[in-house]
Amino acid sequence: MASQSDHKATVIDGKFIAQTIRSEIAEEVRQLSEKYGKVPGLAVVIVGNRKDSQSYVGMKRKACAEVGIRSFDMNLPEQISEADLVSKVHELNENPDVHGILVQLPLPKHINEEKVLSEISLAKDVDGFHPLNIGKLAMKDREPLFQPCTPKGCLELLHRSGISIKGKRAVVVGRSNIVGLPVSLLLLKADATVTVVHSRSNDQESIIREADIIIAAAGQPMMIKGSWIKPGAAVIDVGTNAVDDPSRKSGYRLVGDVDFEEACKIAGCITPVPGGVGPMTVAMLLKNTLDGAKRVIVQ
Ligand code: NAP
Repeated sequence: MASQSDHKATVIDGKFIAQTIRSEIAEEVRQLSEKYGKVPGLAVVIVGNRKDSQSYVGMKRKACAEVGIRSFDMNLPEQISEADLVSKVHELNENPDVHGILVQLPLPKHINEEKVLSEISLAKDVDGFHPLNIGKLAMKDREPLFQPCTPKGCLELLHRSGISIKGKRAVVVGRSNIVGLPVSLLLLKADATVTVVHSRSNDQESIIREADIIIAAAGQPMMIKGSWIKPGAAVIDVGTNAVDDPSRKSGYRLVGDVDFEEACKIAGCITPVPGGVGPMTVAMLLKNTLDGAKRVIVQ
């Protein structure tokens, strides 16, 4: 029998799974175009010149192009007023070729993000952040039109890795509106018994150690140690943290919220950072756009 020190968790290849999903989407887009002469459209709104936002947006546009989704770029100046931004969103709401609208966050300080996001048409809310979509996610027997991309990607990773959720104990670390909270709601909908750990939780370690499924989304580099993990647990590490690394040309490297080396010795399976949840987020955005388009195009 292998001793615990010989144990090696299965590494869930998010990049590969995301690529498979992207190929499936490309095929569906091709069929839509052939049958109805229409393709899904995604509008990406970016305000100002933040380098990180520009690079996320560039990645999303490239991913759209690869699967045949048409992207509509809206680059707006940093000084745009809230009212003008809202009217741009309304324009996109009215455009029949646009099936999904994404407003890249964060927005400049003078703009109320909540107000702008709530102006996006529910039917085009591919980020799934509209309060009504989140509200439906939280309610029994209701379905949102869209589920937020990163949380949806976490469940898809579990699903495509053959990990059952029903009846399992799941611990979500983090309770943000974009990751922790919605992923906990999705797990609950999938019949897990869910506990949410946050920065004020006492005794995090022993709560996390009870989990069959851990979703780590705290933004705390390598916070979860191997000894916090139940043997055989499935670990989805959403955390993406830059830590100093003088051996790299860039001077930094990305690590998750889980100590990957340690976790590999004890978990049943684990996602790497990078290459785990990140690629799935983009794939789910494409999937949401396709689904939004199908609701309109396929009558
Ligand atoms: P966030 O808004 O900063 O939220 C972090 C959450 O973690 C909060 O709920 C916070 O608790 C909790 N937390 C912080 N320190 C903690 C600690 N020591 N113990 C337990 N809980 C703690 O972050 P986010 O936007 O949800 O993102 C979380 C991480 O996921 C980040 O590393 C981010 O870069 C990454 N991320 C990755 C993707 C992807 O596609 N791969 C997408 C989105 C985010 P309180 O509520 O008590 O403050």
